[in-house]
Amino acid sequence: MKVLALVNQKGGVGKTTTAVNLAAYLANTRRRILVVDIDPQANASSGLGVRGAEAGVYDALREPARLSDFIQQTEIKNLHVLPATPDLAGAGVELTDEPDALKNLLAGLEKYDLVLIDAPPSLGPLTINALVAADALIVPLQAEYYALEGIAGLMDTIERVRDGLNPALQVLGIVITMFDGRTNLSVQIEENVRNHFGDLVFWSVIPRNVRLSEAPSHAKPINLYSPMSSGAGAYKRLSDEVMQRVKKI
Ligand code: ADP
Ligand code: MG
Repeated sequence: MKVLALVNQKGGVGKTTTAVNLAAYLANTRRRILVVDIDPQANASSGLGVRGAEAGVYDALREPARLSDFIQQTEIKNLHVLPATPDLAGAGVELTDEPDALKNLLAGLEKYDLVLIDAPPSLGPLTINALVAADALIVPLQAEYYALEGIAGLMDTIERVRDGLNPALQVLGIVITMFDGRTNLSVQIEENVRNHFGDLVFWSVIPRNVRLSEAPSHAKPINLYSPMSSGAGAYKRLSDEVMQRVKKI
């Protein structure tokens, strides 16, 4: 079992959209996938059709022995979710002294090939727990002027976690999101990001696609909501690239 975390302390860069749709395509390859939603806003949970869960990862952290009771099946075979609930917002304080709580919890999982953690938009205790629990990270970067802002801070945090609780932590890749090929700005940003990060950047680029933004309101991943859309094709390709890289970690 490998654990991947979607991290970037900026909000609105495509972490959740990537977690949900990547998970859906990975599950289509018969791998058993668990999405762990650690953002109190619970967007990954609702995007996968699990709305208003009464219990979830917060409860599982308190009662690890009951972990499987809090995991829910989604509409997609082989795709399960450990949902977020609003009380997770208060867990930050409790988790400050327990950066390895999530790692220990996930160690109790047996039947999954891949776990995808959808992190909140901060570098707080929940995200630190994700960095400690993960084998590798996927960093979404929105194709906009301030794309690289905050990345230095994220890389510093990753270094600190490597120096401490998770020396083996890797960056699986950076994925450019909300790319608009009609604008010079998007094209320039892609070029900058590739010059800066080289092979770390996935070849698959996620276009700005209205279908991707509509899908959550239908509580469906893109492969169910609009399988022929450009967004669907992009996440399908990304899932292939992710699997190739995961095999090497
Ligand atoms: P994060 O989890 O990093 O905060 P989200 O995945 O929630 O970001 O995306 C922020 C908003 O942008 C959401 O409303 C989402 O539907 C929309 N969005 C994300 N990716 C795309 C895309 N490729 N094309 C169009 N809209 C997108
Ligand atoms: Mg999110």
